[in-house]
Amino acid sequence: MIKDFLHFNDSCPICSKPLTLFMQFSDSVVFKSEKNLGDYSFKPFKFYNELEPNEDIVLVYEVDNTIEMEFTTSRLSAEAKKAPLNFFYLCNSESFVELGGSCYELPLYDACYYRSSPVMEFKKQELGKKKVWALEYSVEAEKALTNVEEHFSIKDPQEEKENVYFLSLKYDENITMLHYYTVTKSNSEDKSFIPNIFEKQLPLLTSRPKFDSNNRTVLLNKFESWILMS
Ligand SMILES: [Zn+2]
Repeated sequence: MIKDFLHFNDSCPICSKPLTLFMQFSDSVVFKSEKNLGDYSFKPFKFYNELEPNEDIVLVYEVDNTIEMEFTTSRLSAEAKKAPLNFFYLCNSESFVELGGSCYELPLYDACYYRSSPVMEFKKQELGKKKVWALEYSVEAEKALTNVEEHFSIKDPQEEKENVYFLSLKYDENITMLHYYTVTKSNSEDKSFIPNIFEKQLPLLTSRPKFDSNNRTVLLNKFESWILMS
């Protein structure tokens, strides 16, 4: 549920830095949250075209088990009704790589940690004789999920190389993905270097690994055992 998503964590499980909350209208504006008005205030951050970052603000309030939204302008309110939206938390908010149009990537190596919410959309509901816009879950199966996906980037620097592990927990598909590669010092100086990535799919983990740095060796040993198993 969206409320569980909002409160699941607010610091990065990998590096402990504070997370930033974003909201995105599908294939359109990305908003960044600032806590000043409402429970959450979202200002246009990327791909906002005609919107004005200091005028077009989305206020999100927690009401019972769900959220309600207010818009500071009617053009923004109209924009919000056009497509589904979702939220995501990100460790490194500088990690957006724009690809043209409203396309972007969040390379996990730089992003560090990412988790995304169920997708929601505004639908018209009957309220007595009136029709009102209400925010609903777009995918019924996601309604029960806290996070739809969580992605972690774990780096293990050695003397002459760096081992890089990307762990993805995909709660909607019930799977865990591990990606692993090694970069040597000379690889990292070679701009054309493409790492040889090992990929493994496992069922969704039933117990959450400990990601904090005190338990890093245990986590890395777990990854190594998955790699050796294949
Ligand atoms: Zn982090």
